[in-house]
Amino acid sequence: MTARAQVDVFEKARTFERLEILRAARELDLVPYFRVMESPARPIVEMEGAARIMLGGNNYLGLTEDERVIAGARDALERYGTGMTGSRLLNGTTAMHLELEAEIADWMGTQDAIVFTTGHQANVGTLGTILAPGDTVIVDSGDHASILDGCLLSRAKLRPFRHNRLDKLEKMLERSTQDGGGVLVVVDGVFSMEGDIAALPEICDLCERYGARLMVDEAHGAGVLGARGAGTSELLGVEDRVDLRMGTFSKSLASCGGFLAGDADVIEFLRISSRAFLFTASGVPAATGAALAALRVIRSDEGRALLGRVLDNARYWRDGLEERGFAVVAPQPLPPGADPADVVTPIVPVLIGDDWQAGVLWKALFDRGVFVNTALHPAVPPGGALLRTSVMATHDRPMLDRALETFSTVKAEFEAQHGPLPGPGE
Ligand code: PMP
Repeated sequence: MTARAQVDVFEKARTFERLEILRAARELDLVPYFRVMESPARPIVEMEGAARIMLGGNNYLGLTEDERVIAGARDALERYGTGMTGSRLLNGTTAMHLELEAEIADWMGTQDAIVFTTGHQANVGTLGTILAPGDTVIVDSGDHASILDGCLLSRAKLRPFRHNRLDKLEKMLERSTQDGGGVLVVVDGVFSMEGDIAALPEICDLCERYGARLMVDEAHGAGVLGARGAGTSELLGVEDRVDLRMGTFSKSLASCGGFLAGDADVIEFLRISSRAFLFTASGVPAATGAALAALRVIRSDEGRALLGRVLDNARYWRDGLEERGFAVVAPQPLPPGADPADVVTPIVPVLIGDDWQAGVLWKALFDRGVFVNTALHPAVPPGGALLRTSVMATHDRPMLDRALETFSTVKAEFEAQHGPLPGPGE
């Protein structure tokens, strides 16, 4: 008789433990995920039949409906059609891809840049290629999943350290010098859930001391922080000390795609050997055209005004939440000499603690016309559930005031039933 597989490979899909929780949450309509949008990503969206204030997006500058960005997408669509149906290596490179790469390198102040089809692929395609078995990669535990995916793919030795703990980073660097191979440290510039900033000057000092290279994921920093909007590295004055700077088009750049900027030899190596670059179709023309147009807006005087506006809104929103007794997670650490009250990113997370309570609060806000994100375990440590809010340059004060009032009402009702939520400073 022919031997047969002893278990059904699909069994895990039926016994997945989170499925049970999801089913229970669905019964109560408490699931904050896969909600259906019926309008563009704008300050007030149409979502599942109602208007809701959007405080859970990444369209930080509000450029997805900017007429120049739409024109960039439309011109590209008309010129090149809906898709190039080929990889960058073969028939998928257009003049726009090259222009975009040159413009990004100029913006980041690097020798060169390479554009990937998504930001996720930029991380996987860089780390999976530049690292090899025998190398060591040191990552902050708060780094984005795509960083971890790239590290795992490379089969380099992975050494994670506790979020933002530089003493732990130094221990890992010490150990890595014994590992024998090359060493790369990878951190998010702005952490996507906590909204805090990596201590880049100190991390650069450590990397230089131990002979390690440094890569910074600027997904949430590029197009937001620094006078030119070039990200956390610019804000903290370390642009020329960071070896590789990754970014996405799916946030401030109002499109879809990703990039890696750095020295010409590394970028050229990626162009000819990164599998996530070579073995996938190039970004569709409309996405590439939109990203190029958005980058040009960001680099104009008007773009600089937008950067100011999104951070002003973030300050107003954060202060409003704190005044109403919420535990806002403060961005730490601060750039040298900065006033803590001044340092913000558009991501303003509110600590709730318990996953289920975060779901209940999320639903109460949703029903009253405010959409936020929830970050539950395993996206955050156990007991660290967050309502992750984020603001746009195009939110106006009456919208933010209305959302603050809604937060207050929901908090009062919740506390009357379930007891106090964490407060400021917790
Ligand atoms: N890095 C970080 C820090 C992110 O937050 C994201 C997206 N959420 C990515 C990388 C991946 O980017 P994309 O969505 O463009 O694939």
